[in-house]
Amino acid sequence: MAEKRILKVAIIGAGMSGLCMAAKLQDAGIDTFTVFEQADEVGGTWRDNTYPGLSCDVPSRFYSYSFRPNPGWSRFMSPGPEIHSYFQQVATERGIRRHIRFGTEVRSARYRDGQWCVGTDDGEEVFDVLITATGVLRVPRYPDIPGLDTFAGPSFHSARWDHSISLPDKRIGLIGTGSTGVQISAELGGKVRGLKIFQRTAQWVMPSPNVRYSRFTKAAMRRWPVLNRLGYRFWQFYIENMLGRAAVEPCFQRGLMQWLCRVNLRFSVRDPDLRRRLTPDYQAMCKRQILAGHYYQAIQKPGVEVVSEAIDHVQPNGVVTADGTLHVADLLVLATGFDARAYVRPMEIVGENGLTLDEAWEDGPRAYRSVAVPGFPNLFMLMGPHSPIGNQSLVMIAENQADYAMWWINQIRDGRVVAAAPTEAATKNYNEEMKAAMPQTVWMTGCKSWYLGKDGLPELFPWTPIRHRELLSTPRTDDYEVRTA
Ligand code: NAP
Repeated sequence: MAEKRILKVAIIGAGMSGLCMAAKLQDAGIDTFTVFEQADEVGGTWRDNTYPGLSCDVPSRFYSYSFRPNPGWSRFMSPGPEIHSYFQQVATERGIRRHIRFGTEVRSARYRDGQWCVGTDDGEEVFDVLITATGVLRVPRYPDIPGLDTFAGPSFHSARWDHSISLPDKRIGLIGTGSTGVQISAELGGKVRGLKIFQRTAQWVMPSPNVRYSRFTKAAMRRWPVLNRLGYRFWQFYIENMLGRAAVEPCFQRGLMQWLCRVNLRFSVRDPDLRRRLTPDYQAMCKRQILAGHYYQAIQKPGVEVVSEAIDHVQPNGVVTADGTLHVADLLVLATGFDARAYVRPMEIVGENGLTLDEAWEDGPRAYRSVAVPGFPNLFMLMGPHSPIGNQSLVMIAENQADYAMWWINQIRDGRVVAAAPTEAATKNYNEEMKAAMPQTVWMTGCKSWYLGKDGLPELFPWTPIRHRELLSTPRTDDYEVRTA
């Protein structure tokens, strides 16, 4: 039997997907990997986002690694700090931390002489395989509102929450009503001196009660692990076949989602004027679907106001809307989203023949089956371009992508393959098939969202997550340019 190669693998990012990849490498008996992490702790988005009300709107039972169920989840959809602590525990339990170089930002990665040369401020190091696990929404987007920098009070982005500031005595101006803005409003509504929510575009809200698990449930989950697995499978089935299908094809589920959102709005908001202002002029799920338990209740509490007039400018004591009204504020929170185009970069990634990722992605991020890019051998991406993100469990998506990368890593380790990258032709075909399927998706039914790329097409996977899993579970070597020894 041929001896297995000792492979050096570099993982960029110690968030949910980087930790997942590390665990998969360990399970395959590969201990020669390094995780580069620019921050000083694991957790990625769950480390960086700490805003009040932060939670995950995907059921926790399903938003967990399949290889590490958590019987102790406190709620159906657990709060952010608990999710962060889950990922911290996984890193500790599995001994992944000793592989992590904290405080080390990768500046460049160049493919040279069949290896990846990873550059940090500490110098360069070579690896056989490179995995990017840098997340999707990492770089905060600050709004371009005239006078924003003249505001006299504190002001920060939702992903950079300043916890030194006390909230109950503040009149807060909250800009943005995406998933983040809605969670903040639901938490702060009625608990602060004033809350003005500046809504540029109304959002559909799907009712989503968030039950607390009893001690009995947690004990039962611990005692009978099969219950946890059943919970995982149940929510996987539901989310993939309900939200997953509704997003990508006109179907009964899409109609049902729309109906549920309408009924929720109709019965939760009594004031016809407010209801009119909260009614979107596009289909449910066109923007990222909001799932929230008590958003509508929170915004109708005393001291809370939804301002749907456009913002004109900010001045030292508050926000002035187009109708000339001054909305006095002591604190401004910018829940204005993230730069989705900052994907993987700003680090410089250089593949074969000096091709940079910036050049390869001049017209927008493109990949083969969301994981690999032509001209970049032995590079695999977790949450790469056109991953089925939307309202899915990104944990499961990352696992599928990590398993796919593992398939190739095993080929390389066993000596069957030296280097592999998808062909231009296969990648082009795949992207053309996706493009042809896009008009069926709900994301193209007439709204603006961060899902849409430069060409106006969604940067998402236009089929169900089930198809994505199938595509990744059957690697096609014909679609690859494979170099053997
Ligand atoms: P987002 O969805 O991009 O929403 C940004 C909000 O800010 C929108 O309401 C947008 O209005 C508004 N906005 C942006 N610039 C503005 C300006 N200049 N003036 C006024 N309003 C402005 O960002 P997000 O809410 O942070 O969510 C980003 C993503 O993070 C989500 O789509 C989701 O993928 C993820 N997320 C997930 C969860 C979860 O529970 N799983 C929770 C939070 C976030 P327009 O709609 O008019 O553009």
